[in-house]
Formats: sequence, structure tokens, C-alpha cells
Amino acid sequence: MEKQYDVIVVGTGPAGATVAAQMAKAGQKVLMVEKGAYHPSWLLGKQIPALLHFDKLGLLSTREGMMVARCITVGGSAVMSCGSAMPPYPGMYERVGMDLSEELKEAHAYMRIEDDFPERLIGKGQMRLMEVANSLGYEFKKMPKFIDPTKCVGGSCMKGCSSGAKWSGRVPVEEARRYGADLVTRSHVVRAIVEQGEAVGVETRQGKKYFGKTVVLAAGGLGSPLILRASGVPGAGDKFGFDALWFTYGFHKDLPTVNDIDMGLGCSSFVESDGFVLSPVMHTWGMYLASATVGGGWSYLPKFAKFRHAVSIMTKIKDDLGGKIFDDGSFSKPLTDNDWKKLRKGEEIATRILKAAGCTDLFSCKPFAAHPCASVRIGDHVDTNFESKIKNLFVCDTSAFPESMGLPCVWTCTAQGLKMAKILKERLGVPVAKAAPLPRSG
Ligand SMILES: Cc1cc2nc3c(=O)[nH]c(=O)nc-3n(C[C@H](O)[C@H](O)[C@H](O)COP(=O)(O)OP(=O)(O)OC[C@H]3O[C@@H](n4cnc5c(N)ncnc54)[C@H](O)[C@@H]3O)c2cc1C
Repeated sequence: MEKQYDVIVVGTGPAGATVAAQMAKAGQKVLMVEKGAYHPSWLLGKQIPALLHFDKLGLLSTREGMMVARCITVGGSAVMSCGSAMPPYPGMYERVGMDLSEELKEAHAYMRIEDDFPERLIGKGQMRLMEVANSLGYEFKKMPKFIDPTKCVGGSCMKGCSSGAKWSGRVPVEEARRYGADLVTRSHVVRAIVEQGEAVGVETRQGKKYFGKTVVLAAGGLGSPLILRASGVPGAGDKFGFDALWFTYGFHKDLPTVNDIDMGLGCSSFVESDGFVLSPVMHTWGMYLASATVGGGWSYLPKFAKFRHAVSIMTKIKDDLGGKIFDDGSFSKPLTDNDWKKLRKGEEIATRILKAAGCTDLFSCKPFAAHPCASVRIGDHVDTNFESKIKNLFVCDTSAFPESMGLPCVWTCTAQGLKMAKILKERLGVPVAKAAPLPRSG
């Protein structure tokens, strides 16, 4: 006799893992089904081993050849994130008649977001850039982080966090397991099992079936629409966003400092007016090689020798929804004229700041992306309870975003996860309590 779960969660990124932890804590029988492996923590914090967590070792790309970073591992892409926390794009939920404000507050506490990250970890280089940018009239501020400064040892977060300072989906995954949830890894879910218009379980590529009263798809912006489509919602993945970004580089002997964390600062002055955010990133050799050389073309290779002196300012845009995710998992997403306009305006400002800071030899890499999202969309293929037209089949992750974000997504994903759990508790008749803050770890 197959085990019957109360809740099956597909994907263990920040959204899915949060739902799983909340439901397990409420005494529900929870199963997490994850495509990736539980990569051991000793792989974190090292450049080459970090690539094992990324889909196609970091070389996943659109049909047009644009690189898109996402992780296939327990804990989701947040495991390799920069730990930057920003609220959702203004008005994004209000426009679809949803109020996420309470859950955003709860998620802030749950993830222990640090609003005043210490200067010693942001680093002298970025603090100097902040001075220069502000003197030019661009308001750069310290970036709030879901990183515990007392544990953080500095350096690039995009290699994974070896000190356990950064919050990721792994924290609620472990909480869920402590409360009795099951986790199966290396299990690629292909569809929900639907009987008489109701989801009753999921099936994996290996042919394994799991049964439960409710199914929550949280396989990320590229994963969930495929599963939803294969389950009988044909329009899912018809278009999507991915927050295209590029780095504008300059070189300066004294600016980058070895322990600067990624995205120590942010400038959100252009978010509402122009649809982009600016943030400095001091690259490790691996990131520099990937973005400047692979992303930008081999003509950048000669500059590689100078990577230690490379300073970059990232422009990340709220891109137009478009493209398509195909049944074989490949996807197309050409940038629109409007997207290019935003990228170029960001580049212009970044160039001005870098020049004023004394950087030389400026160039921008080719655009790439790291936030696939809005491929299912609240208001289109799911309602404001995250439910699809198939009863008891929910979608709760970046794919449910009503629009592309153009901003860091993890805080919002976690808030969505908390909201999803409240909705499920009500459905299943479980008392609703506030989420208690968790200790961060990896
Ligand atoms: C390098 C990098 C840096 C980033 N930095 C930041 C940052 O500083 N701040 C921020 O807020 N955001 C950042 N992001 C973005 C952020 O990490 C993601 O937007 C966020 O993790 C998305 O959460 P999610 O729950 O929607 O899905 P994901 O984190 O993508 O998790 C989805 C999970 O589902 C699994 N999965 C996929 N398909 C299947 C399937 N078919 N069956 C079973 N499981 C499946 C995946 O393995 C994964 O574990 C960054 C992303 C990258 C790649």
C-alpha cells in the first residue's frame, strides 16, 4: 500500500522548502521531491565544486545562446545566491488583488534578514564606490542580506556559503525533516497525477509515483510550468521573465578587496522609473571567466589576467515577458528593444560611476539571467490562492510571480511559501500560527 501524504512539495528552493517546513511543523505528513542531489556541504565555498550545483554546470542557455544560471540541488538556487534581500517589485501583488505584506514581514524575521550589514564585510572597495556614486547623485545604500554577519567570513557568496552564514532553502528543508517530513532527491517530477480533475500525486521521470491530498509545485520558473503543462494546463510556460542583467567592468588596482561580499550595495532609485536596479559585484576568477569571457566572447580573454583588479556594477532589469519554455525543457527568450533600453541606461550610469572612481578599460559583458520567473503567473494559470484549474494542484515559487521582478527574489519566494502554507492549513483544517525565525545555515 502506497504511503498517502497530506502535502507533496515538488522542489526544495526557498518557496517549496518553506511550505514543507510550515506544514510538517503543523503535524502534516509531508513529502519533498527534489530533482537535484543533496550536495555535501564541503563542496560549498569552492569555485569549481560550486559548479556542480548549477544546471549544466552553469552553461544552461536560451535557444538564442544567452546564459541562464539556476541550481539543481536541495535548497534551490538560493544556495548559490548573493544573499541579497529586496522586497517585491512595487505593486506587483496589489495589481492582481493579493496582499503579501504580512508574510513579507514574517519572512523578514523567519530568514533573519540583516538590514544593516557591516562595512567590514561589504569591503573597502564597495564602500569607496558608494561614496563616489553618492557624490554623483546616485543613491547607493547597503544591501540588506539574509546572511548572519557574525558567521560570515566574507568573499563571494556565489560559490556557496561554507560558514553556514547564508539562509537558503536548505534551512527549512532541515526544519521540515526534523518535524518528520520525507525528502527524496535525484527525482525529476514530470507531471501531477490527476484523477477526475483533482491532483492526487506526482510521477517522476523514473516512473515512481507518490500520492497525497495536495500537490505544491515549487520547481522554479523553468521547472514548474513544464510539470503544470504535462498535468493538463496547456498555457503554462507560454511566456516568462528572467530579469536579464549584465556587468559593466572597469579595472582599478586598489578598489576590489579580497573579502568584499557580492552585491554589498544596491541602488533602487531607478526601479520604478526605469525598471532596473544597480549593484556592484567584485568577481572571483570563476565568475569573471564565466561572465566576461564565456558570456561576453573570447575577445575578453586577454583581460582575464587582470581579473583581480576587476570592479563591476551589475544592471538587472525587469524584463518584458516573452519567449517560451518548450516541452523538452529548452527555452527561447529574445531580449526586446525595451529590455535593451533599460540595460543601456544602467550601463551608462555604471560607466559614469566607475570612471569617476578611477577605473580604466571599461566594457560590459553579454547579458545573461539568473531569475527565471512569471512563467505561470498568479492571475493567469493560478489564482490568488496559488491553485491551478486542477483542484489541489498549486504552484508556489518564482513561476507564480505575476510579473518579472527585476529584483532579488528569495525574500518574496519565502513570503509566498508562508502564504501558501496558511492557505493549505485552512484547507486541511490545521491551526494557523506565525512562522518562528530559524537559525541560518548554508
Ligand atoms: C547565482 C545566483 C545568484 C542569486 N542571487 C540572489 C540574491 O542575492 N538574492 C535573491 O533574492 N535571489 C538571488 N538569486 C535568485 C534566487 O536564488 C531564485 O530566484 C530563487 O532561489 C528562486 O526560488 P524558487 O523557490 O522559485 O526556485 P528554485 O530556487 O529554483 O528551486 C527550485 C527547486 O526545484 C528543483 N526542481 C526543478 N525541476 C524539478 C522537477 N522537475 N522535479 C523536482 N524538482 C525540481 C530544483 O532542483 C530546485 O531545487 C540568485 C540566483 C542565482 C542563480
